[in-house]
Amino acid sequence: MPVFSYLHQLFSADTCHAYIHMLRWKERSLRCPRCQSHAVGPWGTYHYRPGCKRYRCKGCRRTFNDLAHTLLAQSKRSLVYWLLATFLLCLSCSSRRIARELGVHIRTSYRWCWWLRNAALSYEMQRQLEGTVEADELYHTAGRKGQAQQGGKKPLGRRPRRRCKKREPGRGHYDKDRPAIIAWVSRQGPVVVQAVRDFTVTTVQKAADLAVQTGSRLYTDSASSYRALKGYVHEFVNHTQKEYARGDVHENRAECLFSLIKPYLRVFRGIGKINLPGYLGFFQFLWNVRHQNAFEQAELILPAALDPTRSCQ
Ligand SMILES: [Zn+2]
Repeated sequence: MPVFSYLHQLFSADTCHAYIHMLRWKERSLRCPRCQSHAVGPWGTYHYRPGCKRYRCKGCRRTFNDLAHTLLAQSKRSLVYWLLATFLLCLSCSSRRIARELGVHIRTSYRWCWWLRNAALSYEMQRQLEGTVEADELYHTAGRKGQAQQGGKKPLGRRPRRRCKKREPGRGHYDKDRPAIIAWVSRQGPVVVQAVRDFTVTTVQKAADLAVQTGSRLYTDSASSYRALKGYVHEFVNHTQKEYARGDVHENRAECLFSLIKPYLRVFRGIGKINLPGYLGFFQFLWNVRHQNAFEQAELILPAALDPTRSCQ
């Protein structure tokens, strides 16, 4: 690691590898990742990777290490980079910021960020809310940020936006570069944030079936797509009549969540609509483990990244 400060030197390769070894084999005892045999023995070290121990399986007679078959297996950077990148990601830094702090290329940190975000998403894939749930929607401008696949100038298929993008008339839609975001906030604590193409009855019904258990109590505003929902006990407040709370019926938690999502998304300085679900999914993960600090959140992501069955590249 290029030495930028004395703080960086406090991270030694040996300590990091010992920590990763503990995380990888915490829930399953040391075994061969190929044949699952427990008959393994030490088999030296790597001269180009200080701290990393090598093992040999007596069953299939092949060697492996703590990183075999995981996201981090082929990485040429030392583990110090990965640990710091995961920590900075939990502070919701952009990939450009992480590249600057670690001294790696922007493309490297961008790739790592998505790998780690996807690893974190494995915690959130099955989440369904129950009890009393509040819902609200937001339209967010998300265009086609990023370069063309083959490099060079990207064909936009429209006039460049330049500054001061004029919004197209009517409600937001994926095709108008303004997809909708629906937040489902349970009063028990957990949330589900979804990016959807539009805000029609069919879309909202599908989103609700995924996010909220049937039979739950649902509090929303008076949008007609919510009123047509089937399978829930539904009550709403009428914002056009300046009604924001009627006893227990309100959606202020959902509105509050949007006031936090907006600054979170602003950090990335405009996002592509293809990436919007990924960013929101990671926000959902961060918010659902909000009682833990960034170090503890990073400790949740790393085991998922080190689990060969869970992490997806
Ligand atoms: Zn084996």
